[in-house]
Amino acid sequence: MDSKTEKALKINEITKGRICDHCLGRKFSKELEGPGNPLRGEKIRNLLRESDKIVDIDAPCYVCQDLFQEIDDKLIQAIIEKIKDLNLEFSSFVVGCKLPLEIIDRDEKLNQNLEVVVEGIKKEVNREIGKLLEKHLKQEVDFDDPQIVIMVNFKRKKPSFKIQINPLFLEGRYLKLVRGIPQTKWPCRKCKGRGCEQCGFTGKMYNESVEELISPAVLEKTQGTGSKFHGAGREDIDVKMLGKGRPFVIEIKEPRKRNLNLKNLSQEINKRCQGKVKVLQLKYAKKFRKAQIKTTSSTTSKTYQARVKLNKAISEDKLKNLQKLTLIKQRTPLRVSHRRADKFRFREVKNIKAGMISSDELELIIKTEGGLYIKELISGDKGRTIPNVSEVLGTPARCVELDVLEVGDQD
Ligand SMILES: [Zn+2]
Ligand SMILES: [Zn+2]
Repeated sequence: MDSKTEKALKINEITKGRICDHCLGRKFSKELEGPGNPLRGEKIRNLLRESDKIVDIDAPCYVCQDLFQEIDDKLIQAIIEKIKDLNLEFSSFVVGCKLPLEIIDRDEKLNQNLEVVVEGIKKEVNREIGKLLEKHLKQEVDFDDPQIVIMVNFKRKKPSFKIQINPLFLEGRYLKLVRGIPQTKWPCRKCKGRGCEQCGFTGKMYNESVEELISPAVLEKTQGTGSKFHGAGREDIDVKMLGKGRPFVIEIKEPRKRNLNLKNLSQEINKRCQGKVKVLQLKYAKKFRKAQIKTTSSTTSKTYQARVKLNKAISEDKLKNLQKLTLIKQRTPLRVSHRRADKFRFREVKNIKAGMISSDELELIIKTEGGLYIKELISGDKGRTIPNVSEVLGTPARCVELDVLEVGDQD
């Protein structure tokens, strides 16, 4: 007797002949050609008939209780209808399922008994539903980057399903052309966003933010249920973001529309931002960019323009002392120490250009490694940043105006 027949007989014995073609074929997926488990199952069944062991196909399957018969036209039609109702735009999908635990259990136990390692029943269920949907949707299942997930639940008597809409990511660069706007929505410190007298029942510390200026137009066009703004670092509220802008990713939750005219969308955003904020180079992004722009932000170089007020007048030749500012040891500034870990960091100043505005006022163009706090580089932050501008000029210095001119390199 060959090994296939031997295995088939063992299955026949364990299941008392109650096994469907799907579940039977699945156990032979490594040694028999398909295509598909049902065909494999049929071949094995014929093998058993030859050896006078008839497999009873009328009783419900020992493994799946004939679950595969529930994957029918009715289910597929209902899914298609639902997608139509939601008016969804998507170009990739994947199928997931929930199965009763005892089915998964029996499937695995059978594998253990037979000492085989083959795919689990869940994978086959997903694939079978996927194949049928592919025909209707005229799209192939995409495991890597599905825009929607069709989740079918077989745990109850009748299968039910949910359409999960994965987020859409757009990225671009933003300019902040006025001071006094935070990057993201900032909940009121006192009421934590619930709304109180202090915040005028807005629940916010600031009326608007870069996020809140950009998001509404995006949400409208995509018909999403919410959004999240991820910046490549952030400038202080009183700092402008100029030059080529700061990279950001906007994540739109449950978007129904994905086929966007990004040029029109940028125009619409910029119209609504009324010159306070401007969006450049808006494009589609993959999910990984959300984390990537955050991590690269601390390593990419930045260029700042600072207006600096000095306690006493200095002569212009003192400015050359600024070239001593190369490697900076900076302890977490007092200003942010309540929300950031207290630690030392070393950051490189790549270049400083200085000009006198008057005898006690300077303009500095500072190019540095990411992650250096500029206001403290100027003041010295009570000795927490060394060396610093105050120290090398020999008089206390204070940043009165700061703009970011460049973040990272242009791609
Ligand atoms: Zn079965
Ligand atoms: Zn409040």
